[in-house]
Amino acid sequence: MARVLIVDDIEDNIRLLGYNLEDDGHDIESADNGHLGIEKARSFAPDIILLDLMMPIISGIDTLKLLKADEQLKDIPVIMISANDGDDSIVHALDLGAQDYVTKPFIYPVLAARLRSAVRLRDSQLALAAANSALSLLASQDPLTDTYNHRHFFNLAGGEFAKSRRYKRPLCAIMIDADHFKAINDNYGHAVGDQALIALAGTCQKLIRASDFVGRLGGEEFAICCPDTDLDGAHLLAERVRQAIADLTVENEDVQLNFTVSLGVTEARDEDKAFSSLLDRADKLLYHAKQSGRNRVTSSSKK
Ligand code: GH3
Ligand code: MG
Ligand code: MG
Repeated sequence: MARVLIVDDIEDNIRLLGYNLEDDGHDIESADNGHLGIEKARSFAPDIILLDLMMPIISGIDTLKLLKADEQLKDIPVIMISANDGDDSIVHALDLGAQDYVTKPFIYPVLAARLRSAVRLRDSQLALAAANSALSLLASQDPLTDTYNHRHFFNLAGGEFAKSRRYKRPLCAIMIDADHFKAINDNYGHAVGDQALIALAGTCQKLIRASDFVGRLGGEEFAICCPDTDLDGAHLLAERVRQAIADLTVENEDVQLNFTVSLGVTEARDEDKAFSSLLDRADKLLYHAKQSGRNRVTSSSKK
């Protein structure tokens, strides 16, 4: 059943409608003018508002305008109730965002059915909005590690790259690759390998600044994009990540596993045309870190 706010200047109307709605199991609040109605809408958070059109102090139409202009209240469906059955009045109210318009005298079961229909519509809109935000999270996140997936990471990093070139701000990329990860899977099983990847991602998320972000580029490879960060700063972060992973123990039943990562760090340069140029360079530096013994950070030399 619904939470219903009745806004009407005539007490008898509120009482009569209120009784009927309560009989049907709805929760009722009321207000005898539009300003009070808006206040009540804020505190009571109704599922629907029944709004009288003709009221002193502030008209139903002006109250409707205020409701629809308010970020917090604009999605609450409003049914206008009025003795004025003129087409213009109905069109005006609906165009301003009223969900429905019922003329007085009304037949209560019809009003109640319209109310249920408006609430059903709002419920399905809320469900759709929740599903959409869940979907957009799914579309941007790697399901195993909750870091950004490849596509979303590149979208965001592309934007940061453009901003850094335009405003002449530093920007760094860090590539991270787990060392001898194939052996971890071979020795301990894929589930423990997955757990290690989750721990690796979590360690990165914990160490980065709010403006940095982590993406899983694939397999056991991750990248961090560090806006407004110069090479020294990014090297420091990479070194912290390396150390934190080296100090980490992944525990799973009777297994205790330690592993390391190698990292490549680079800063955006004038000749870079896209964020992918940074990542290509970071990847070569990472390869160098692997060649020189793993569990280390290689940064590009400063320009
Ligand atoms: P290197 O130190 O040279 O990077 O050696 P490596 O064994 O880490 O590199 P390689 O590229 O040969 O192997 C990567 C391994 O990562 C192989 C693959 O099974 C494992 N891997 C990739 N994705 C996942 C995953 O989602 N879960 C688990 N458990 N393992 C993964
Ligand atoms: Mg590896
Ligand atoms: Mg790899």
